[in-house]
Amino acid sequence: MSRHCAQKTLSSRVSPAIGRVLPRSPIASWTTPRSRFSTSARRPLMELTGFTEEQLTIREAISAICAKFPNTYWQECDQNERDPKDFHAALAKDGWLGIALPEELGGAGLGISEATMMMQTITQSGAGMAGAQSIHANVYATQPLAKFGTKQQLEETIPKIINGTWRTCFGVTEPNTGLETLKLKTLATKNPTKQTYSISGQKIWITCAQVASKMILLARTTPLEEVKKSSQGLSLFCIDLDRSRPGLDMRKIKKMGGRAVDANEVFFDNYEIPENTLIGQENEGFKIILHGMNAERCLLAGEALGLGYAALERAAQYASDRVVFGRPIGQNQGIAHPLADAYMQLEAAKLATYHAARLYDASKTDDSIPFHSVGVACNSAKYLAAEAAFKACERAVLSHGGMGYAVEYDVERYLRECLVPRIAPVSREMILNYVSEKVLQLPRSY
Ligand SMILES: Cc1cc2nc3c(=O)[nH]c(=O)nc-3n(C[C@H](O)[C@H](O)[C@H](O)COP(=O)(O)OP(=O)(O)OC[C@H]3O[C@@H](n4cnc5c(N)ncnc54)[C@H](O)[C@@H]3O)c2cc1C
Repeated sequence: MSRHCAQKTLSSRVSPAIGRVLPRSPIASWTTPRSRFSTSARRPLMELTGFTEEQLTIREAISAICAKFPNTYWQECDQNERDPKDFHAALAKDGWLGIALPEELGGAGLGISEATMMMQTITQSGAGMAGAQSIHANVYATQPLAKFGTKQQLEETIPKIINGTWRTCFGVTEPNTGLETLKLKTLATKNPTKQTYSISGQKIWITCAQVASKMILLARTTPLEEVKKSSQGLSLFCIDLDRSRPGLDMRKIKKMGGRAVDANEVFFDNYEIPENTLIGQENEGFKIILHGMNAERCLLAGEALGLGYAALERAAQYASDRVVFGRPIGQNQGIAHPLADAYMQLEAAKLATYHAARLYDASKTDDSIPFHSVGVACNSAKYLAAEAAFKACERAVLSHGGMGYAVEYDVERYLRECLVPRIAPVSREMILNYVSEKVLQLPRSY
């Protein structure tokens, strides 16, 4: 497909805001095949063959926005735990937060394949996980809302999330149940006379709760003791996070990386929410949330990849520049080979990631693709990308020697951040459990 044709196709499918930004992207200045690889001025490494023109166009447009937020910006946000709200606003301004939301609500109506490319480009620009996490929930936690929400919920909420007026967060994890999500205890009790629910319980690790106006909340509407299966009795809500109202409190968690975005304990004590904040059917929340989980795994995989490539680019550059014992350190195979290995691991994980995203998107219209296949592909991709990113980030720090430990060289920030895709939203161990059981058909271990 010609470039002109690709722009036309994409522009006709994207929101007016995204459509407007495309002509201003560096696409117009592509001159050589090499220049189209560029996400940074450094040493772009990722092989782009095989991506669609749409994905490449998105990559260029997002890179152009990210270029306004250099590494020093992210260093400063990280050191001072300062929320990158201007970065969120810049993406919102051009409609990017609606990349995978319906066109009739102001979104671009594109798929997870394109959203994954957007998230990868963000982390790869040097923004790292902090940049990704500042918008991540707005992109994926809104997916179940878009599919199962009422017309009123959609019209009131989605446009404001896309244009950046409201930020959102995702409230699932609880301190006492962890990965055993189905055992979560936060209770939403119906008050039929007031047409409200009262929420009581605690969530933990909720990213961006301090800056969010909305939370997509998973809570029990039927106590665990009263359901036949633990997957029953859960409900999903889109609630206001109104700190001025009684029953809501939150506390920031001091953390290792991605310090620019807040992570929180959130406490509900009879916090009242209107009945019409329920998404879909009561007690069907788990089925509804499953809809977004595979999408989230793809986005996380993309984010991990971006971080890994960013680290590897820095390492390759440093290994070329730094001279010790009269030669560039990269001339030593002890430095070069681990970097070459990290590159191949990233490339393999990239193929797995975009295969999973493609399968996820295709499964929406192709009933012959089993849910099982999508689940295995998305979980495998998240696992492989997180492991490859970790390897690349670790090798990047080691390749820099002492300078790997210096904030100025960024790779220490990438290493701290690359642990997140290994832990969240589901840990590497739980993915191994899943594949052992669902693919290898070994006895369930938990
Ligand atoms: C930076 C960050 C941001 C996050 N953002 C959000 C957010 O916005 N919203 C949200 O809801 N959550 C969020 N989370 C939470 C995240 O999804 C959880 O931390 C993750 O799911 C792991 O749960 P846990 O911490 O309770 O671990 P636990 O369940 O306590 O597990 C601890 C360890 O034991 C292992 N383990 C447990 N059971 C088994 C088993 N049967 N077999 C093998 N190993 C096992 C796990 O793999 C893990 O290594 C975030 C977490 C982090 C670190």
